[in-house]
Amino acid sequence: MQNYPLWYYYRLLIGSIIVLAVVGALLGHVWLVLSLGLTFFVAWSIKQQHSLLKWLRNPTGAPPSADGLWGQLFDELYNRQRAHSAEIFRLRALLQRVRASAEAIPDGVIMVQNDGSIEWWNASAEKMLGLKPDDRGSALTNLIRDPKFVRYFKRGGGDSIKLSAPGREHVRLQMTLVTYNQTERLLMVRDITRLLQLEQMRQDFVANASHELRTPLTVLRGYLETILDQQERVPSFLHRPLKQMFGQSKRMGNLVEDLLLLTRLDADETDMLSSEVFVDNLMDQLVSDAQALSGEKQHRITFINEAKINLLGNPNELRSAFSNLVFNAVHYTPANGEITIRWQQEGGRLIFSVSDNGIGIDPAHIPRLTERFYRVDISRSSATGGTGLGLAIVKHVLQHHDAHLDVHSKPGQGSTFACVFPLARAATPSNP
Ligand code: ADP
Repeated sequence: MQNYPLWYYYRLLIGSIIVLAVVGALLGHVWLVLSLGLTFFVAWSIKQQHSLLKWLRNPTGAPPSADGLWGQLFDELYNRQRAHSAEIFRLRALLQRVRASAEAIPDGVIMVQNDGSIEWWNASAEKMLGLKPDDRGSALTNLIRDPKFVRYFKRGGGDSIKLSAPGREHVRLQMTLVTYNQTERLLMVRDITRLLQLEQMRQDFVANASHELRTPLTVLRGYLETILDQQERVPSFLHRPLKQMFGQSKRMGNLVEDLLLLTRLDADETDMLSSEVFVDNLMDQLVSDAQALSGEKQHRITFINEAKINLLGNPNELRSAFSNLVFNAVHYTPANGEITIRWQQEGGRLIFSVSDNGIGIDPAHIPRLTERFYRVDISRSSATGGTGLGLAIVKHVLQHHDAHLDVHSKPGQGSTFACVFPLARAATPSNP
């Protein structure tokens, strides 16, 4: 159908009126002929409207053909309807492809409304969580009732959590809640049973190996100590090797103890984390141990308790973490250096910090310090009997206590290692 501009139709209308008026004048009935012409036009328009309506109600196939503007209107509607159908078809195919790919994902995927009602899930989620068709629309927290999950869902997600599958204790799942628009969230579920088993095997192996090494090492160290106590009875050429053997056996002993502590930390995530830790007592003990370690190096070690508040946590773990920081300060600060230990409250945080004016650390090393076996300078670290596990232990302990480690250091000027705890870890002050 050809598209004519508006003026064409105005010209057609005026031309028709003139022709009808001329015919009416010739017949002597101008108004009658004009009225008949108008009636015919209205009747034709009603007929076109009716055919349009009929076609719109059942738009299969092409629309009825018509002349003039009506024809153009039909064609326009037909073209739009065809484009619309093609778009719907394309979107449907896309949706099917997206669904098929979501079904194929080995991880469980569940779409949830903000109010917690389940909207859609894939086959893996069905298998892992035992979802049934009736569960559509019901609350996710009714299906996964573990209080840990309920709290996680209420706070809107965050770092992944690990849980047992509902009704199947031995199956461990990792869940991550993602908010992807204003009204909906996505719960990703991964079966990590096998991964945890492997992790457990690794931990057991390290723990068993370390445990088995402990006894022979103690025997070796004991004999070496006894021999060194009676140096005068030993040929002089053996003095140096024996001292070195004793130093290295001590180092191996530290390594074994650190490995055992790390595997223990890996194993129990929530054990005894809310005992009151008496900071003053702990520090008195730590300062005197540090002074003993410093020995002839005569560091000035001071403890300043500004917070006057105790900490909630696991006393043994915290003692390990704090002593690692204090002993590191002793190891990496030259003789007569200053070491300041501070316990302070700053805003919404409790901070335990150890500052020294020792050798410091190049900024390039700082992000990697808490990696297991990472050392800035292997020779210097070995000289101190370091294992490279101390700061890994600190990081682990702090993670257990919702805290983190901040490190500030300048080579040649000194370092500050700060353990930053949330105020929720403060215990009500009391006397030991
Ligand atoms: P290590 O047992 O070797 O001391 P750590 O994990 O405790 O292992 O420390 C990692 C590295 O960080 C150390 O090798 C050392 O180079 C550096 N380091 C730790 N504390 C300090 C400090 N107070 N001053 C300078 N360097 C430090």
